Amino acid sequence: MSKEQLLIDRFLKEAKERLIKSLTEKGVLRSPSVTKAFRSVPREMFILPRDVRSAYEDVPLPIPGHQTISQPLTVAFMTELLEPKAGQKVLEVGSGSGYQAAILSKIVGAKGKIVTTEIVPELFDFARENLRKARIKNVDVIFSDGSEGYEKQAPYDRIIVTAGAPRVPDALKRQLKVGGRMVIPIGEDVQTMTLLIKKARDKFETSYHGEFRFVPLKGKWGWEFR
Ligand code: SAH
Repeated sequence: MSKEQLLIDRFLKEAKERLIKSLTEKGVLRSPSVTKAFRSVPREMFILPRDVRSAYEDVPLPIPGHQTISQPLTVAFMTELLEPKAGQKVLEVGSGSGYQAAILSKIVGAKGKIVTTEIVPELFDFARENLRKARIKNVDVIFSDGSEGYEKQAPYDRIIVTAGAPRVPDALKRQLKVGGRMVIPIGEDVQTMTLLIKKARDKFETSYHGEFRFVPLKGKWGWEFR
């Protein structure tokens, strides 16, 4: 490894620890499993090469197709709210860079599985390639409209939507197991982070967890065909 590379690695390692410390002090990173996942996933592998120096700044960064990789605070917040556990099957709508899927994959472990859907071909390739480079194996990246869920691998213990939705798509409600949790930002310009807990086949407990900004959900149950 070149001297320059060693310096970059050290810089990134320190920046990552500072970010973890700050998210922990803010009370956003709370559980050992999510903190451990943040430590083990290299965010620099999920962004554009020109932004590597900003990999551990708490900001969203541009990825291809006018989309963004969410700010670390948002990823930490949503992951804690989702409460994923080892061995679970999780559906993500909106692969983007693949980073959120990578964080989840570390938490569910080798016996668990992440199914992540992406509707933009360019991002589908980007997420797949990033996950391959980061040597993450328990993630299936699917090229499909995630506003309809992904019936083939349903039901899911957890569902996470990483684009702003007009409402909770029915298919996602159906594809969630009883006892399961879904985290979905709802709204057009600003989104309310919404948590649904499925109590019975047609019974959901809903709670709201602050405001965030996401790119819009596309597809059948997204904004385009309203
Ligand atoms: N979770 C991502 C960030 C996602 S940005 C990460 O960790 O980087 C939101 C993504 O959702 C974009 O890539 C966008 O193309 C995708 N998206 C929007 N509507 C979608 C839909 N209906 N199905 C699947 N993906 C969708």
